[in-house]
Amino acid sequence: MTASELAMAGVRTCVVERLEKPSPYSKALTLHPRSIELLEMRGLFDRFKEKGRPLPSGHFAGLNPALDFSLLDTRSNYTLFLPQTETEKVLDEHARSLDVCILRGHEVLAVRQNDENAELVVQGPDGLTFLTAAYIVGADGAGSTVRKQAGIAFPGTDASITAVLGDVSLDNPPNSNFYTSMNEEGAVVIVPLSPGIYRVLSIAPHMPQRLLHEPVTLEELKKDLLRICGTDFGINHPVWMSRFGNASRLAERYRSQRVFLAGDAAHIHFPAGGQGLNVGLQDAMNLGWKLAAVINGRASDWLLESYHKERHPVGAELLRNTQIQTKMFDFTRDGLHMRGLLSDLLTFPEVNRYLAEQITALSVTCLPDEKMPEHQLNGKRLPDFEVMLRDGTSKQLYSFLHSGSFVFVTFDEESIQLPSLPHIKTVEAKSMLERPEWKDVKAALIRPDGYVAWAVDHSETDAKRLISEGLQRWCGHVPIPFL
Ligand SMILES: Cc1cc2nc3c(=O)[nH]c(=O)nc-3n(C[C@H](O)[C@H](O)[C@H](O)COP(=O)(O)OP(=O)(O)OC[C@H]3O[C@@H](n4cnc5c(N)ncnc54)[C@H](O)[C@@H]3O)c2cc1C
Repeated sequence: MTASELAMAGVRTCVVERLEKPSPYSKALTLHPRSIELLEMRGLFDRFKEKGRPLPSGHFAGLNPALDFSLLDTRSNYTLFLPQTETEKVLDEHARSLDVCILRGHEVLAVRQNDENAELVVQGPDGLTFLTAAYIVGADGAGSTVRKQAGIAFPGTDASITAVLGDVSLDNPPNSNFYTSMNEEGAVVIVPLSPGIYRVLSIAPHMPQRLLHEPVTLEELKKDLLRICGTDFGINHPVWMSRFGNASRLAERYRSQRVFLAGDAAHIHFPAGGQGLNVGLQDAMNLGWKLAAVINGRASDWLLESYHKERHPVGAELLRNTQIQTKMFDFTRDGLHMRGLLSDLLTFPEVNRYLAEQITALSVTCLPDEKMPEHQLNGKRLPDFEVMLRDGTSKQLYSFLHSGSFVFVTFDEESIQLPSLPHIKTVEAKSMLERPEWKDVKAALIRPDGYVAWAVDHSETDAKRLISEGLQRWCGHVPIPFL
């Protein structure tokens, strides 16, 4: 995703991937509302949607009732149930369509950097290769070689509990599309994955735990099902079985000079609530346009520094909420009482919404521009709403973000017309339909990742200077006609 964002901005990019072929197994199964929004912004989402299944909800610690996404302030108010293999396939096609070079079967062994550039030592099928680049993004997962080589610490805790996953056939599957059973024996979740294949998950933190590297057997999963559900559903033919745990670690820094971290390379946690892949995609979207702006000479280093400042707290919050959820996977008698009480609380719409906004990342904000006067929109996420244009037509806001450029929205009668620039789209708007928070806005700059960089109201006495300086700061040298 980062590579594609860079390629869209004309930056030559190379992805180095150890695996010769994509993995046929899917860890993640969910695309959440903020990720869907980001894909909508690039006009990509239909490609994912046609392969997935929309579900109106998500979950927090597997509590019942589920988190109701349908009431959230977004048009993408659902989970797209989509195996990770499919998500990766579409992202791969997207990158290739933008001429990103993808080197499969190449393993990064070492990373070096100096003031001028960064270098990768790569083991390929024909021996060692040395790649020199302006920047390196370590999106190489939990065991990240890039992170270790860059000397970035990864503090946190090791796994204390493990859970089991099996992609299997079931002769007598449950009737429900989301089957759960929870009692003093532990918990089981079963969801249909593809025709004839079901994902079975089992967890029992209060029982003796197996070590993470111990292989899972069909017998073990069968025993879990019999103990917790009273039936083994006729389990057979495992396609993939795996064990995963609650190790929680967060990179101390998301950047070391010319090296950045994104995704699991930066944060690992128990996969509760289905968030890891989503947060990784959101890291990528935050980083791509910033790197492109600096490489293209339109921004200075402060923009790159903002990557850590904005995304590290999101990673910390991700670890906090997954650790809380892990504590709540307590199926002792007392634990089940606690879960019962929390389930009662989830029936209150405000509580449900509060947690739903966290799990979906809709509550994430970005740094407000400190050099601009305070404004309620600064740093806020933009949902996709309808913009009434000055020519009387209307358009969805996200349609202006398809090419990954900034969007400069002006409501000024004496229109601030910027010259045509590839990295800024000017939108002459009349009003933002049904969005009262935009009522007094004279002009606003929207970042390529769909957050408001800054907004200036009509009442601002020094508006022209603020707008012009705001544009220069974020978008590089922009010839401004009204100055
Ligand atoms: C059981 C389970 C269920 C999950 N369910 C969900 C879910 O429903 N929703 C969700 O959002 N998240 C979920 N997750 C988390 C999600 O799968 C991860 O967060 C996601 O895969 C992270 O993506 P990534 O690209 O950062 O890392 P990875 O998926 O680990 O990819 C890293 C890539 O880097 C490559 N690589 C590694 N080292 C090197 C090297 N030295 N040189 C070259 N290439 C290298 C690897 O081959 C790999 O392809 C789940 C995780 C588990 C374990």
